[in-house]
Amino acid sequence: MSIRVCVLGPSGRMGRAVIEAAAARDDLRITNAVDRAGAHVIGSEVAPGVTATSELGLALDASDVYVDFTAPDSTRMAAQAATLRKRAAVIGTTGLSPDDERAIADLARVAPVVVAANFSLGVNVVLGLVRQAARILGPDWDAEVVETHHKAKRDAPSGTALAIAKAIAKGHDVDYDKVKRHTRDGDVGPRPRGEIGVSSVRGGDVIGEHVAYFFGAAERVEIAHRATSRGIFAAGALRAAAWVVGKPPGRYDMLDVLGFAS
Ligand code: NAD
Repeated sequence: MSIRVCVLGPSGRMGRAVIEAAAARDDLRITNAVDRAGAHVIGSEVAPGVTATSELGLALDASDVYVDFTAPDSTRMAAQAATLRKRAAVIGTTGLSPDDERAIADLARVAPVVVAANFSLGVNVVLGLVRQAARILGPDWDAEVVETHHKAKRDAPSGTALAIAKAIAKGHDVDYDKVKRHTRDGDVGPRPRGEIGVSSVRGGDVIGEHVAYFFGAAERVEIAHRATSRGIFAAGALRAAAWVVGKPPGRYDMLDVLGFAS
């Protein structure tokens, strides 16, 4: 029996990529698709034999796991509906508020949930590399993260840039919130030792680029990742969906799915 996957936001860029990627797997299939009431896709067939609906509860009842790349409000509402049903989840929405995170934490108490700001294998390798580089180089090497995304992206900095910056803070063994600097404007003064900067660039159709810089004296290390297709995130999310069904309740990340020690 293949795993029944409910995709949220089938009209979105990532929702479409998830449906496309599912066609390449035989261990799971898209059985339900839920978009917001009023979305143009409601009532139309978005995958073989699957009509998009706005009836979230019914769709969750009829699936084993849901995959959510939508928006913070809908991610919170879906987590609440899934908590009542103890439904497994794969969540990739970024820009989540503390309230949204709490709803996910409530779900993770009763069901297994994979949450990742980036589902690509490459970015998860980068997270490990920057942490190691930061540990070895130390705070005397100025760490900066620059991310570039398409012009429709709503949140900044990207969830992936934050994950990279937090991995650097871990390598430095410091509390990220005490050293972070998100963009600079005006008379910000000289750069303090140990600061971790994050800058955002928006334009065109860039799917996602992240560069972590470590500036030393007379030398510089750059660790970069460039995505050229949303398919990598969709494939990673489906790998997570196949992995998470049947796991004990809890919050997992992509390093757990990939089997890397974190
Ligand atoms: P998008 O705007 O193209 O799609 C969002 C979709 O969500 C739309 O189809 C919209 O109709 C739908 N939606 C809104 N409210 C809904 C509701 N209540 N119920 C169901 N569907 C609803 O955005 P996108 O580019 O596909 O990105 C979506 C999210 O995924 C963003 O937060 C983005 O940052 C994130 N993202 C994460 C990764 C990752 O690897 N974790 C990769 C790419 C994008």
